[in-house]
Amino acid sequence: MYRMGQEELDAMKRAMDTKQLFRGNEIAAFEHELAEVIGTKHALAVSGGTGALIAAMVGAGIGPGDEVIVPGYTFMATAMAVLATGAIPVLAECDETCTIDVEDVEKKITKYTKAVAPVHICGFPANLDGLKALADKYGILIIEDACQADGGSYKGQRLGSIGDAGAFSFNFFKVISFGEGGGVVTNNDKIYERALIYHDGGAAFRPYAGELHEPVFCGTQLRVGELFGAFMRVQLTRMDGILNDLRAVKKLIMSALSGVEGIAFAPSHDIEGDCGTTLPFRFATEEKARDFAAKISGTVNGWLPIDSGKHVYYNWDPVIAQRGGHCDAVNPYLMPQNANLNLTKYDKNSLPKTNDILSRTVYISLNPDWDINKINEIVDACKAAVK
Ligand SMILES: *Cc1c(COP(=O)(O)O)cnc(C)c1O
Repeated sequence: MYRMGQEELDAMKRAMDTKQLFRGNEIAAFEHELAEVIGTKHALAVSGGTGALIAAMVGAGIGPGDEVIVPGYTFMATAMAVLATGAIPVLAECDETCTIDVEDVEKKITKYTKAVAPVHICGFPANLDGLKALADKYGILIIEDACQADGGSYKGQRLGSIGDAGAFSFNFFKVISFGEGGGVVTNNDKIYERALIYHDGGAAFRPYAGELHEPVFCGTQLRVGELFGAFMRVQLTRMDGILNDLRAVKKLIMSALSGVEGIAFAPSHDIEGDCGTTLPFRFATEEKARDFAAKISGTVNGWLPIDSGKHVYYNWDPVIAQRGGHCDAVNPYLMPQNANLNLTKYDKNSLPKTNDILSRTVYISLNPDWDINKINEIVDACKAAVK
């Protein structure tokens, strides 16, 4: 979370004054505004990004018997969401941008592949043109995990709006936030209705649930209340300002460092569209990356994505152990419907290209409110580190 203030307090007071905190006008307005900003027909507010991914996947009809291809570099939630539907996550390598590698995705497509879930990790858009070509060729769906990329875009379209459905997170560590929260966006009526049914315990509380075209099934409870709606409506109005300022900081640092010997940046599938939350340095060796991170650490935290815990596939402990559910009967790895699927047992060496790229990358997490002095200090520290 980057910014919050009096406007959020005023909005929450407005909601409290109605003495009606259950899902109502504020949430309805937030969903309408989110759909409008992202450029989709539908949006659904939910209680978290993981829930948003599960609702989107359930909405898309993903379940037992299906494989969903996910990148080896993402928060574990992407793979857990696949398992929550009863499907099997199949891991793919990352490309030089640290997002899912389209060539490796194609190698991993089987007759069981139902979808690919690209992750716009650290605000960097995945190669959506490449994935769309595969989706058309093989008839698979694209569920965008845009949890780290609220408001980012790819070739002029907002992330989340390009695949069949998209999931956002509004937890504390994301671009806009209510501490916890999430959103599902889609242009597809069927995915929307099924996600709605799933998120509201079988459409229990929707006055117009009787008008749904999809048969109602049992779901879970991912609804959010009016304080969330009031707060997030203000956050949404801050989003483009936050992104503009992050991108400006990124641009200033990158241009000040361009041409400096020993400094190179990782490529991007859309450098204008990426959120600017993260500045990606790329080195020839892990040793050089670690040396650079150590040398700038007095000024700014530089971190290697290979060290980012539950964001690296071999640290997804319950997934790696194939404990995919709370008991054997609901563990997708043990379900008879999944017996013929790709049940690869992953370990530390399963995705060597991903390991290599993540070990030679140094990220600096940017702040939209850094002033020119802070930016200059960072630039100087980076120059000194490669001297
Ligand atoms: C944060 C995050 C999620 C999950 O979001 P929650 O709101 O914490 O459930 C999913 N995927 C990625 C890539 C994330 O960074």
